[in-house]
Amino acid sequence: MDVAQQLSETELSAKILRHAVPKMSELNIPVTPDNYAVWYEYYKGINLDLKRAIDGFLANRLAFTPEVCSSLYKTYIQVNSSEVIENVQIETQVLINSLIAKIASMTKGTSRFSESLSEFDTALKEQPDQLVMQKLVDGVSLELEQIINTNLEMDKSLHSMTQEVDALKSEMAELRSVAMTDQLTSLHNRRAFDQEVISHIDSFSQPNFESSLLVIDIDYFKKFNDTHGHLIGDKVLTYVAQALKSSVKGADFVARYGGEEFVILLPQTNHLNAQKVADNIRRKIAERNLTIGKEKKLPLGNITVSVGVASLKPTDDKDSYFLRADEALYRAKSSGRNCVVGEPVIETPI
Ligand code: GH3
Ligand code: MG
Ligand code: MG
Repeated sequence: MDVAQQLSETELSAKILRHAVPKMSELNIPVTPDNYAVWYEYYKGINLDLKRAIDGFLANRLAFTPEVCSSLYKTYIQVNSSEVIENVQIETQVLINSLIAKIASMTKGTSRFSESLSEFDTALKEQPDQLVMQKLVDGVSLELEQIINTNLEMDKSLHSMTQEVDALKSEMAELRSVAMTDQLTSLHNRRAFDQEVISHIDSFSQPNFESSLLVIDIDYFKKFNDTHGHLIGDKVLTYVAQALKSSVKGADFVARYGGEEFVILLPQTNHLNAQKVADNIRRKIAERNLTIGKEKKLPLGNITVSVGVASLKPTDDKDSYFLRADEALYRAKSSGRNCVVGEPVIETPI
């Protein structure tokens, strides 16, 4: 047989394969070498007795049970020439190769499978006999089953890994939120404030961006603690925190800077408006007569706050911005407390 002849034989074989395998699976016939030999001959069309027998089965819709299949093989194939066996071997090889290609695409990158695939390949090159071929087919289907199982396991472990990653993500988010929150008042803490100031400074390059900062300090808080005790002092800190939070809008950023000192960052707020906001807060706190206890309300008197206000300038960094507000606070304390002080107005010469 010359090369051209061999090629056309292979092409014919491939053509038969494309018809035979789907038909066999439609009829629930296992694709074993013996069964395939029968259907190969059927589609090749030259074994007229076999063709007549199968057509008879198909016309009468008879089932191709294992007994029927085996009898077809014994009667029409086994007695025939070795040429049939050779063709079946070629077909089975094509079949196994297509299965191998499927397996390879399903298991890209897994070394175990590449090993067994190359074993198949070597075995196929040795022109295996029927029995070995049968074992190879069995091996391939077993391998396929294992791959499907492995894929399922991979799916499961990927799923559980995704769940673990999700759990880790929410733990990290939780940790981050704890790291940024003041324990006593549940406001943002100083670390969170530092980040927020930086984001205001970064946003300053945008056109028309404005930012103002209030630094709020409770007046004579040491005396309050000394009179009522530290625990009541803590309750007052929580109350002030709530009063601050409820006095500003959503985009405004309220934090406890430390001790009895709070800060509020007001985006898109000019200096004058920031002073107005500060004074509303100051009044709201000063007007309230504090009491303690649910039934027997003990009066605690009033507490007041002093507020320093600064507005962001193009030359500011985090420290200079805070320092100006803190200096304003110092002036508020010096001028008698319970008041709001802004930045000094710089007189521009006429
Ligand atoms: P000023 O009007 O000048 O601000 O006087 P002040 O007493 O408020 O200021 P000073 O800085 O002298 O004292 C701050 C006090 O705040 C000291 C401390 O008793 C109190 N303080 C700071 N942190 C806490 C806290 O977490 N809980 C309580 N209960 N008190 C605190
Ligand atoms: Mg104080
Ligand atoms: Mg203070």
